Amino acid sequence: TFVVDEDCDYLFKTVLIGDSAVGKSNLLSRFAKDEFYLDSKPTIGVEFAYRNTKVGDKIVKAQIWDTAGQERFRAITSSYYRGALGAMLVYDITRRGTFENVKKWLHELREFGNRDMVIVLVGNKSDLTDLREVDVEDAQKLAQVENLCFMETSAKDNLNVEDAFLQMITKIYDIAS
Ligand code: GDP
Ligand code: MG
Repeated sequence: TFVVDEDCDYLFKTVLIGDSAVGKSNLLSRFAKDEFYLDSKPTIGVEFAYRNTKVGDKIVKAQIWDTAGQERFRAITSSYYRGALGAMLVYDITRRGTFENVKKWLHELREFGNRDMVIVLVGNKSDLTDLREVDVEDAQKLAQVENLCFMETSAKDNLNVEDAFLQMITKIYDIAS
């Protein structure tokens, strides 16, 4: 489930999923490069990015896959999920529909993904408090029922982004090591 190379002890593949425009690409650019884009175009998404983190005394390289907008057409293929040990399932707290679709994404994850994949549910855009359509409590309840980690983030204000990725990476590490 992992390979070892010269500059890291573990390499984990993880994937970003969730409806279009929830902020997946910006969460990744924030975590990997500490950058945010007000007007990001789905078509210029990178395939994946890497970031090294330390877990205990080990160096873990997370390879994080991003979609290039295929989620718009529900056309994410099984190769996207292949070998992934973790998934960040993102919805937008200002669009109820993106939260309602979480169940569909979970279904797809369970169909194509690893059995013991670590899944972190992320409610992004927590900076937009006035536009909130999804209560924290609703998401917490869903996370509990579905046995997921849960966190609200803001890629824009850089809130909890690091924590959400590190939680996923640490959990994978606990399972894989
Ligand atoms: P993706 O389609 O899921 O990859 O979403 P993007 O990362 O392309 O983001 C879609 C839009 O939401 C862009 O206009 C971003 O600037 C914006 N966005 C992403 N994250 C946040 C956030 O945390 N807060 C706010 N206010 N806007 C965000
Ligand atoms: Mg994107």
